[in-house]
Amino acid sequence: MLEVDQIRAGYGAINVLWDVTLKAEAGKLTTIIGPNGAGKTTLLRAIMGLTPLTGGAIRLDGQRLNGTPTWDMADHGIAMIPEGRMVFRDMGVEENLVMGAFHQSHRAHVKQRLEQAYAMFPRLRERRTQLAGSLSGGEAQMLAMARGLMSNPRLLIIDEPSLGLAPLVVNELFEILERLKAGGRTIILVEQNTERAVGVADHVYLMQSGRVALSQPASQVELQHLHALYFAR
Ligand code: ATP
Repeated sequence: MLEVDQIRAGYGAINVLWDVTLKAEAGKLTTIIGPNGAGKTTLLRAIMGLTPLTGGAIRLDGQRLNGTPTWDMADHGIAMIPEGRMVFRDMGVEENLVMGAFHQSHRAHVKQRLEQAYAMFPRLRERRTQLAGSLSGGEAQMLAMARGLMSNPRLLIIDEPSLGLAPLVVNELFEILERLKAGGRTIILVEQNTERAVGVADHVYLMQSGRVALSQPASQVELQHLHALYFAR
């Protein structure tokens, strides 16, 4: 579905991604892991059109995607949930969700999508009038995910959702990822929790210093080997 083909990108004169090639197949969960500074977020930003490419191409169903402005990504069925649970803190939970269906073509479905969101995240229904800024870290992450789903994206890109969450909340989060996957959603997940990420993934990419250091079906990944590569500099 999404093909990243030999891309290069960076910030000004500093190049970060060196000929990165990867694929996210339809209906599958692809995880990208790697240490701090490996370039994972830069890769997601490049896919979303936030960081321009200096080489290579990104294709969605065979059509060139790079050059598409970020605000048109929703039209292409792509939604990104950035790191840091960026919710509108001074707005209510439900208002945050409605913001996720900002695009004209999604407005007609807002009620139905809200129902789907509340079915997937029952705690958000209980808290629907509460200010988003007063939610716990776990609830705010759920809200960010639910908002991302409001446009019913074909491809959901999630950056480090488990960062800073308590173990029980991390369990809940991975259960939700399992359910999204079971529902046939195509997902790209960037995670630092390698074991959990490999556990939920179909395919695993390890990034190291702006390059893909390993690409393997999750079923073939040996965690020990992965950790050895992860910490190799
Ligand atoms: P983390 O897990 O810490 O978020 P990451 O794998 O997502 O790491 P990136 O955030 O993509 O890595 O960073 C890759 C490199 O790009 C790092 O060396 C970082 O310092 C650099 N970098 C990131 N953002 C910028 C920026 N806005 N300007 C300049 N350099 C940046």
